Amino acid sequence: MKSNRSFVVAGSTKLPPEMAPGDEAPAGTPGTGENVCRMCGGTGRVDGHTCPDCEGSGKVVEGVGGA
Ligand SMILES: [Zn+2]
Repeated sequence: MKSNRSFVVAGSTKLPPEMAPGDEAPAGTPGTGENVCRMCGGTGRVDGHTCPDCEGSGKVVEGVGGA
C-alpha cells in the first residue's frame, strides 16, 4: 500500500500515531508490520459491526520476525 506522506509542520510536537486496540505497536515501529486482522479476517467487520480489534481497517500492526 502506498503511503501518502502528508505535510509535516516543522517544529510541531509529534503526536503519537493512531493505534487500534489490536495493534501491538504504533505503525512504523521497527520490527513490526501490518498484518491481516485475525479477529475479522481482514474484512474490518465482525457480526455486522465494525471490528473492535482493528477498528474496521482490517489490519493490525504486529511484531514481525524474531524467535
Ligand atoms: Zn479486524
